[in-house]
Amino acid sequence: MTGTSNGKSSAVTDVHIVWITAGLGCDGDSVSITAAEQPSIEDVLLGAIPGLPKVHLHNPVLAYENGDEFMKFYYQAEKGELDPFVLVVEGSIPNEKIKKEGYWAAVGTNPDTGQPITTCEWIDRLSPKALAVVAIGTCATYGGIHAMEGNPTGCMGLADYLGWNWRSKAGLPIVNVPGCPVQPDNFMETVLYLLYQVAGMAPMIPLDKQLRPTWLFGKTVHEGCDRGSYYEQGEFAEEYGSSKCLVKLGCWGPVVDCNVTKRGWMRGIGGCPNVGGICIGCTMPGFPDKFMPFMDEPPGAKLSTKTIAVYGHMIRSLRSITNATVNKEPKWRHPRTELTTGYRPNTY
Ligand code: SF4
Ligand code: SF4
Repeated sequence: MTGTSNGKSSAVTDVHIVWITAGLGCDGDSVSITAAEQPSIEDVLLGAIPGLPKVHLHNPVLAYENGDEFMKFYYQAEKGELDPFVLVVEGSIPNEKIKKEGYWAAVGTNPDTGQPITTCEWIDRLSPKALAVVAIGTCATYGGIHAMEGNPTGCMGLADYLGWNWRSKAGLPIVNVPGCPVQPDNFMETVLYLLYQVAGMAPMIPLDKQLRPTWLFGKTVHEGCDRGSYYEQGEFAEEYGSSKCLVKLGCWGPVVDCNVTKRGWMRGIGGCPNVGGICIGCTMPGFPDKFMPFMDEPPGAKLSTKTIAVYGHMIRSLRSITNATVNKEPKWRHPRTELTTGYRPNTY
């Protein structure tokens, strides 16, 4: 049993994370999480967080093992020898049913047939054995860029493939952590939550209808954006490089569920609209088709910005008067020989 700082023991001593990067993807999410700090991968793997089970990560981008030596983890998971394990899927899931010859995506070779084992087959083999299944990044969660209109693979997200009501053997729904790529700490926090849940120290992970952790995706980009006050005052950037609200340049922040404006990218630094880049809605199930062309003003923004421009001008003028007032010290602060603060002593 793994001990904890308060003397409690974890329900599980060892947990494996079996990670498939062989979806239609770019491994950007695997790379992204190496920037996480709350917690970092190292914190989790080296057991820096008391009470958690020992974690063994099997991710082909980050693994020491390679080739068959790495593939053995997938076979062990399939045989129940890595129990319990969390299955992480990265990249869109292609539709192999429409592929007459060959395959869209695969990893490893079937020794019986000498043929590649498709990503879909690995998902079919491993998902029933997993304690929890996590889709990382927008491709694995909702299809993403690879599932764009006109793509030849007919690819989709994991919940489209397994079913939105799918449950793991432990009764957990698929956990979606979207983002293109995923925000580093968003993913590691979700893993941390699941580890606490596995350890019997947290209730069922709270997810919204799109299977996203609610504490991460419960607010819009706009609700966390540093430039929200410019929007409210009707001050809109006309060109890149401006510090004002970017909505007229194509920012979709008001209707996108994402915490990057609030959280920053790494160590609170970076982000998207908060630091000058339009939000293209990369966390959303409708991404990218419903947001293109990215650099046009979102159609819904036209009405709201026109309305706010009128109100914003008036509010800005009133605020500038008050601002001038509060920029002056009160008149009783002076070096003269009289006290003018209004002080009225009862006794001396
Ligand atoms: S830049 Fe985008 S997210 Fe920020 S205030 Fe403007 S519309 Fe909202
Ligand atoms: S702010 Fe917009 S573009 Fe940036 S990560 Fe979030 S959803 Fe993607």
